[in-house]
Amino acid sequence: MNVNHDDCASMADLAPAAALGALDPDEAAFLRAHLATCVRPHLELREAMALAATIGAACPDEDRPSPALRTRLLDAARADAAREVRL
Ligand SMILES: [Zn+2]
Repeated sequence: MNVNHDDCASMADLAPAAALGALDPDEAAFLRAHLATCVRPHLELREAMALAATIGAACPDEDRPSPALRTRLLDAARADAAREVRL
């Protein structure tokens, strides 16, 4: 199997948005296709999902983060991923 490691780096970039359901359809398709073929566990994706679940659990459905807060969370999560994930 030929694994493209540039794609692995892209996964780290997409993880925060994926966890928050903020991917566009092309990104979501790329992510699914990559996970189906990549041999790496991509723990950053699982960690981002866990973080998003924690945020979601802390916010009642009628009190979702505002778009501005969501953007800040995404930016913070991306910065975090960029700092911690070096593939
Ligand atoms: Zn990968």
